[in-house]
Formats: sequence, structure tokens, C-alpha cells
Amino acid sequence: MEPEETLDPENWDNIRTLSHKMIDDMLNYLETIREKPVWQDIPEGVKSKFKVPIPNDGQDRKRIYQEFTENILPYPLGNIHPRFWGWVYGTGTPFGVLAGILSSTLNSDTGGGEHILNYVESQVIEWTKDILEYDSNASGILVSGCSMANFIGLAVARNIKAGYDIINEGVRSSDKGLSFYGSTETHVSIDKALQLLGMGINSLRKISCNTKHEIDTKKLRETIEKDIESGFKPVCIIGNAGTVRTGAIDDFNVLADLAKEFDLWLHVDGAFGIWCKLSPESKNLVAGIERADSIAFDFHKWMYMQYEAGCVLVKNRTDHHNSFSLIPDYLAQQTRGTASGDLNFSDFGLQLSRGDRALKIWMGIKEHGIKKYGRLIEQNIQQARYITELIKKEKKVELLAPTSMNTVNFRYNNRQIDTSRLNKVNKEIVLQLQEKGIAVPSSTILAGIYSIRLGITNHRSKKEDFDLLIKEVLKFGDELSAIF
Ligand SMILES: *Cc1c(COP(=O)(O)O)cnc(C)c1O
Repeated sequence: MEPEETLDPENWDNIRTLSHKMIDDMLNYLETIREKPVWQDIPEGVKSKFKVPIPNDGQDRKRIYQEFTENILPYPLGNIHPRFWGWVYGTGTPFGVLAGILSSTLNSDTGGGEHILNYVESQVIEWTKDILEYDSNASGILVSGCSMANFIGLAVARNIKAGYDIINEGVRSSDKGLSFYGSTETHVSIDKALQLLGMGINSLRKISCNTKHEIDTKKLRETIEKDIESGFKPVCIIGNAGTVRTGAIDDFNVLADLAKEFDLWLHVDGAFGIWCKLSPESKNLVAGIERADSIAFDFHKWMYMQYEAGCVLVKNRTDHHNSFSLIPDYLAQQTRGTASGDLNFSDFGLQLSRGDRALKIWMGIKEHGIKKYGRLIEQNIQQARYITELIKKEKKVELLAPTSMNTVNFRYNNRQIDTSRLNKVNKEIVLQLQEKGIAVPSSTILAGIYSIRLGITNHRSKKEDFDLLIKEVLKFGDELSAIF
């Protein structure tokens, strides 16, 4: 009889030697990340290596690792680099790399059951509630990211505030349109969530903003009142703690008062901004978030944790549980053994099988202590102010929005060419900075003006990186405005 096969190695020493090399290489890579280009174009020859037929037979591990170092390692997104400030990305940490190895060694499903990683997740959620000064009875779950966290928060909002048994009867059983309210700056994941919840994207009433890009609360009230008059059922206000374009923060106390007055749910999308709470100097920026019925946010952005790690908290545990708990006999909880325990995270979200996301967070917070995270967040805020001052001093660059928290919008402007040419010049500046591997800002359009945008959620950035950015923007700007 043939011996049984397994995916384990025949010789553990071989894989051990290779794994030590991999870890050494990766730590060296992170240690020297500053010397590497932030980002580089992937040559066609490399892309073609990922359009080949499936291997029928196994290959040597060392060869596979060599392929990784040649064809994969040089071409990542770049968000681990100190001069990456595009969109909103986190950097991760070296200890987070190791946490990933430990976590995938245990490879536990965290949907439920009596095993330790569920307790680790529960610990992380309790710590988070403390940080946010949120209701100690609130429930929470780690999810892939803030998109999923928003989805869960809005699902509970819809189920609780619809005014009928929408969980069992569905949206078809009512002809009364449900309405949601958020500013024009609300993140697209909210539109996606509402579409998938059967609400339709148009159920989101997009309320205009004041000059600081915060929701106009007078318009919000008028829109709610008009909806009620026209026979719609207002359900939920969505507040932003840090919008993507400008880092704007809505006034949560006013939103919470309005929600109370009209019996609405208040959901906060705090993807990155809620972490201001950790900085004694800046926590007042997000005053009132603890009044929200649900809060969605990420650990993988401004808590610098490895992907994926989002989280949603819901103030009323029963509301949250009732929205996601459907238990067939084959998943029934036992009083003893592996299927016992009362940490059934699958009752609080969409996933049944779930990977562990908690260990890296638990290890990271223990490694540095929460005060250090607060200092790093404040450091990023101070860096945003630092580059804002540089911009104000330089004649040929100008701010395009008030700097809020960690988000800066500006452009090159030599005041000799018109807006449409300036838009082209600034767009080209961003592309050249990226393609030359110097820095990665992203861009946005503010009132028709092309803006170079920085979202500083990077624990590796230093002041000198921002000095360099301004120098390069001026250099490219002067060169390009002569050509364009
Ligand atoms: C990034 C972001 C999201 C989406 O979060 P993911 O983690 O990418 O799913 C939602 N809202 C805001 C404000 C964001 O910055």
C-alpha cells in the first residue's frame, strides 16, 4: 500500500532553514525600506510571469521563494515606506509580521467555539471601548475593514429603525422608503452598503457641507423634516470622523441631538479619525462620538496594524446580535467541549469562518503600550501642521482646504497660468513623484481644482520627508509649467 500523502514537509529541517532565511530577509527589507523607491512600475516581463498555466507538479520551495524575491518583493503598493501618504493606508510593523506567523500557525476559525483566540478578540474589543470611552455593554467584532464595519452598522440601524419586521419580511413588504443621511463627503462604502442592504443608493440623502467640509446640520434638519412630510421614513444619520478628501470631522453632539429628537440611529464612520481619541492634545476633535449607536473604524490605517483589521462597535448588544444570529442545529452551542463558550463572533457579522485578526492587535498594543500610539497619532497631526506651515511660507504652493487632523490638500501654483493648465501640471507632479519612486501622495478634486492630497497615517515619516516633498513639488512644478 502506498503511504498516505500530506502537505507537511518530508524534511522539517529544510523548511526550517528556509524560514529562518525568509524572516531575516524580510526584517532586513523593513529595516532598509527608507532606501528603496516608494513605488515602481511593474515591467511587462514581470506581469507576464503571472499569466502562466497552473503547475501540475510541485516545485522546489527555494525556487518559489527566489521567484518571490525577484518578481514580487520589488513591486508592492509602497505603503510601508516613510514617504507614502496617498489615500489612507497603514504601514504595519515588524512585530506585526511575526504575529502573522503565529496567527497562521494556529490557523483557528474565530467564528465561535471555545478557544483562546476568541478571548483575545474579546480583549481587544474591550480595550477599544475603553479608548473610545464607549458604553461598556457594547458589542463589537473585528472585520475585514471599515467597509464591512459600515455595512454591519447600517444593517443594524436599518433593522432596528425600519418600523417593521424587515429581518423576516424584507424591504418588499413596505412601500415606505427608508432614508439615510450623511454629508456629500461620506465615503463610498456607505453607498455600497446601502445598495447591498436593498435600500438603494438614492436612499442616502447627501447633505451639503460648510467651508470646513463638515455636514451642514441646518440642511440636515431641513432634509429630515422634508422627508417626513413627503412620507419617507428617516432611519439613520451617518457622521464622519475624518473624511477621505479633507479629514473633516462632523459635530457629533449636534448629530446625536438630532438623532434623539427624530428617533434615528447615529452611525459614525471613523475609519481613521476616531484614533484622535488616543492623543490627549487632539481627543477633543472627536468629542461626542461615544453618543453614536454604532461606530466603524480600522486598525489597519491609523493604528498602523497589518491588514486586514477593521472593527464595528454597536451600543446595544441585543440589536447587534439579533441582526446576524441565525443558528441551525449543526452550529448549536454546547455546554462543554470545543463547541462551548459564549464568544460566537459569527452571530455578530456576515462571516461564519473567520480568520484571526486579533492577535496582531493584541501583540502590537502590548509591545508599545497605548500611550505610544497616542504620541504617534499626535506626531502625524503635528507633521500635517508642519507641512501646512511650509506651504504657507512658500510662494509657489498653496493650501486648498483647511488642514484637518492628518490630512493636507495643496497645489503648486506659480500664478502665471490658468486653472485648467494648473490642474494638468499638478496631476503630472503627482504622477512623476510616484513614478520616480520619490513619494506617494494621492489627489482629489476640490471645487474643480486638482489637489495634491496627503493622508498622514505613517509611523515611519519624519519632518525631512515633508521638506523633500515640498522641494520636489516646486522643482517638478517649475519644470512642468514651462512645458504644459
Ligand atoms: C478607508 C475608509 C473606509 C473604508 O475602509 P476599508 O478598511 O478600506 O474597508 C471607509 N470610510 C473612510 C472614511 C475611510 O477612510
